[in-house]
Amino acid sequence: MKALSKLNSEAGIWLTDVEIPEPGHNDLLIKIHKTAICGTDMHIYNWDEWSQKTIPVPMVVGHEYVGEVVGMGQEVVGFQMGDRVSGEGHITCGHCRNCRAGRRHLCRNTYGVGVDRQGAFAEYLVIPALNAFKIPDNISDDLASIFDPLGNAVHTALSFDLVGEDVLITGAGPIGIMAAAVAKHVGARHVVITDINEYRLDLARKMGATRAVNVAKESLSDVTTELGMSEGFDVGLEMSGVPAAFCDMLSAMNHGGKVAMLGIPAGEMAIDWSQVIFKGLIIKGIYGREMFETWYKMASLIQSGLDLTPIITHQFHIDDFQKGFDTMGSGESGKVILNWK
Ligand code: NAD
Ligand code: ZN
Repeated sequence: MKALSKLNSEAGIWLTDVEIPEPGHNDLLIKIHKTAICGTDMHIYNWDEWSQKTIPVPMVVGHEYVGEVVGMGQEVVGFQMGDRVSGEGHITCGHCRNCRAGRRHLCRNTYGVGVDRQGAFAEYLVIPALNAFKIPDNISDDLASIFDPLGNAVHTALSFDLVGEDVLITGAGPIGIMAAAVAKHVGARHVVITDINEYRLDLARKMGATRAVNVAKESLSDVTTELGMSEGFDVGLEMSGVPAAFCDMLSAMNHGGKVAMLGIPAGEMAIDWSQVIFKGLIIKGIYGREMFETWYKMASLIQSGLDLTPIITHQFHIDDFQKGFDTMGSGESGKVILNWK
């Protein structure tokens, strides 16, 4: 089968021919319809320090996908041939304390699809049936293929009550923008999002942000004054991984504010801890998505009218994968989809 592989320890990705994987007793074999390119795939493509330490070579990468069930192991229940599925990319151990308590997103022994084991940028993927999520009929393949990053956005955004609250999102990458749409949809008052990339700020405006602020040109405090916010933000969603953005957020939070942190800083990050202490801020780290409450909420949010279609800005056939990676690398995109059909 065709697969996009990390073949060499250098920048790039290569279209290869590999064996179709065999499902084990508890696995599904999924024929892939669509995949989407994640920021993580860009790290792997660019072969940065993290990838060099983490990714075995050769390796089929990718973990954002939708497809259909075309095979299953003999122990699998709850799925039928032809079911449309996406899946949770964190394969959890099932025996640690958190897994056994149903808090699988806090498993300390996870394996990543397309990171530690064969990924979804291929004609076929095998995952444990336990990790698959059936896509309701009224949700398109396009949207289903981005459930993984949408899950990051939803899990982060729904960490705290947003109804009637003023929300600051730092980082208008695909996840930050989707989080802005979610926050608006569930009833936040002002949703302010920051970035330094005009293309992405424009996209955030289209998707419902109250204000999209280019922090290289405009100060956040001018914006809050203009919005009549005299006290600061109630909830912060850090989605850039950039220390300067997190520092902006800490200064802009109200006392008693709550901050959920998804963005991954490149290294250690110094902050002004007095902002946290004297404001009595609550800070929560976010990893992945909740299995499977977040998946359930994603489907329900879309079914209740959340419109995410503008976030998908580009589609390419898999044979044009290079254009996909170049587009994603340019910063002038939302989600980029690769079609396998
Ligand atoms: P992305 O890199 O596309 O988006 C980050 C955005 O931050 C970019 O648009 C960038 O221009 C912007 N930015 C740069 N400097 C800024 C500043 N000073 N102020 C505000 N914004 C600034 O990433 P993404 O795919 O949307 O993911 C968001 C973050 O979440 C990344 O850090 C990613 O690594 C992380 N992530 C974490 C998890 C997790 O489980 N914790 C999962 C997926 C992604
Ligand atoms: Zn576990």
